[in-house]
Amino acid sequence: MYENKKFVYADNAATTPVDESVLSAMLPYLKDTWGNPSSAYSIGREALGAVSDSRGRIASLLSCKPNEIFFTSSGSEADNWAIKGAASAAKSKGKHIVTTAMEHHAVLNAMKSLAREGFEITYVSPDKNGIIFPSDIENAMREDTVLVCVMYANNEIGTLQPIKEIAEVAHRHGALMFTDAVQAVGHLDINVKDLGVDMLSFSGHKINAPKGIGALYIKTGTRVHTLIDGGGQERGRRGGTENVPYIVGLAKALELAYSRLDSEKRVLALRERLVSGILEKIPYSFLNGDRERRLAGNANITFEYVEGESLLMFMDMCGICCSTGSACNSASLEPSHVLLSIGVPAEKAHGSLRFTLSHENTEQDVDYILEKLPAIVQRLRDMSPLYSSGMERVK
Ligand SMILES: *Cc1c(COP(=O)(O)O)cnc(C)c1O
Repeated sequence: MYENKKFVYADNAATTPVDESVLSAMLPYLKDTWGNPSSAYSIGREALGAVSDSRGRIASLLSCKPNEIFFTSSGSEADNWAIKGAASAAKSKGKHIVTTAMEHHAVLNAMKSLAREGFEITYVSPDKNGIIFPSDIENAMREDTVLVCVMYANNEIGTLQPIKEIAEVAHRHGALMFTDAVQAVGHLDINVKDLGVDMLSFSGHKINAPKGIGALYIKTGTRVHTLIDGGGQERGRRGGTENVPYIVGLAKALELAYSRLDSEKRVLALRERLVSGILEKIPYSFLNGDRERRLAGNANITFEYVEGESLLMFMDMCGICCSTGSACNSASLEPSHVLLSIGVPAEKAHGSLRFTLSHENTEQDVDYILEKLPAIVQRLRDMSPLYSSGMERVK
């Protein structure tokens, strides 16, 4: 199906493959030590030991206490818990929340659901480079603001937000600070104490652990109601028998990610090669989001006079995996809310591609994209009436 039998995976913000050593760490808990961590006999106690050990290792990497880490079924669950749990616990104090227009849908839809319950949500917009200014958060704060929610790294354009400064603003106004760090954890040396946040979420499948495991850091003393009621798991705050093998996998994957933080420099060089190559070879293309204040592997580029969906199809035929906007929206034909939030007009937003590189990508991968993409864009433009009339305008 793929021409030349080449396969280049450049969609690491959508998901990542499970690392071999993560799988090896998990297998014993699927095959042998399959007991319930709440059971008193030995395979139960061993499973409980594995969960505690994983929690401790994760806590030490993030610089918090083990009892501040809670396992969830996904990044989405962690986001929902932080937002709905904190809002519910604080609603007698106030029903106003400050967030941004560029959050992940797990956050935006949790906000919508709170809005239906009478919360008021202020959506702060980023600047044209995709950066949220602490002063804009400050201006949005009110007497009754109980929560500030700003993502650490954007999943579409990769821009990084000044979370520490924003957390200071939130606290100065007596509000809690939550950051969705699903795209940041594993790529930046995150220390939750330094960051000063009250809650932080992350997810396994973005860092080479399996899909279906996430975690929420909740600082001691933070009032957050329970989202999933059940048995007494996770110190009575998140019901559901612990997903032992996946928890073990998450800890292993996080350790691996921290141990190769240095490789981010190499990923950055690959991304720069890709961005420069594209902007040089393809006219009427531009990079979305700040060129420096972004994740090393992220390149989000708009190609005027083409449809991202058609680009994606032709790239797939060449064995190249990338995406338009986020994977979660790729089924919808709505232009990306993130690109709209930085002021990209809807018709241009439609012609955008996101490449997200990882430590597994090579220079050959980048050169293969640079070899295929210009011809694909040209071919689509040649078929587009918009392109020829656009060219008239330029002349
Ligand atoms: C992927 C992602 C999520 C959702 O995580 P899941 O584990 O897939 O539910 C949330 N926020 C951001 C920024 C993401 O990239």
